[in-house]
Amino acid sequence: MSSNSDFLLAVEDLTVSFDGFKAIDNLNFYMDNKELRVVIGPNGAGKTTLLDLICGKTKPTAGSIKFRGKELTQLPEHRIVWEGVGRKFQTPSIYDSLTVRENLEVSYPKGRGVWGALAFKRDEALREKTQEIASVVLLDNSLNTQAGLLSHGQKQWLEIGMLLIQDPALLMLDEPIAGMSAKERELTAELLNHLAGKHSIIVIEHDMNFVKQIGRKVTVLHQGAILAEGDMDKVQSDQRVIDVYLGH
Ligand code: ADP
Ligand code: MG
Repeated sequence: MSSNSDFLLAVEDLTVSFDGFKAIDNLNFYMDNKELRVVIGPNGAGKTTLLDLICGKTKPTAGSIKFRGKELTQLPEHRIVWEGVGRKFQTPSIYDSLTVRENLEVSYPKGRGVWGALAFKRDEALREKTQEIASVVLLDNSLNTQAGLLSHGQKQWLEIGMLLIQDPALLMLDEPIAGMSAKERELTAELLNHLAGKHSIIVIEHDMNFVKQIGRKVTVLHQGAILAEGDMDKVQSDQRVIDVYLGH
């Protein structure tokens, strides 16, 4: 028998109204562990608001958000981070004056692991982890570069790295390729395909070419509710999706 606690994330009957306008309207959304889910939909569909609700930045008017069986809607934002939800915003929040390595290091959780007072062991673990994450986010040749000097795309990757180094149980990315060059978009798709299956990730994106490259299961949001859900082929051939979104 399956129950909601089998899901990594179970969003049920979720509603948020802003002065009577329902940005999320009785939404049900379920995600499995280690799933890469892409959420698409027209402007104003409620995509960013959904992430705001999951990470606790916005509190719902009604409904529930269970993450690994635990109710999140009553928790403050920092507690939701502790529960393992990492969220990347549309504009990168990196430290421009620090190097890539330093940005990753300051994001590494303090006092983690079994090393205790063995500071040198921790340093070693930190160096290895920094190296590993830098290579995942395509910055292993830029570890000593000042972050402010990176390209726009590299800054986005660095921020993804700063989240990954915290080993979140759920990573949420809101329009990660906005403003990227074609080459950077392609590399970002590769990066996400590399993470797929190893991490649980929600990606919000507009660019359908990009969605096709990374899309496994796709959720189409419209007016705060799910319009369609399924693999790329199913969603793309759904007449309602074509009418409200893809046809434009
Ligand atoms: P999307 O990310 O899909 O483009 P959003 O989630 O940003 O859409 O917005 C959904 C709707 O909710 C929009 O109409 C937006 O204006 C409204 N909205 C979002 N946040 C707020 C807020 N804090 N106060 C009032 N309205 C909001
Ligand atoms: Mg948005």
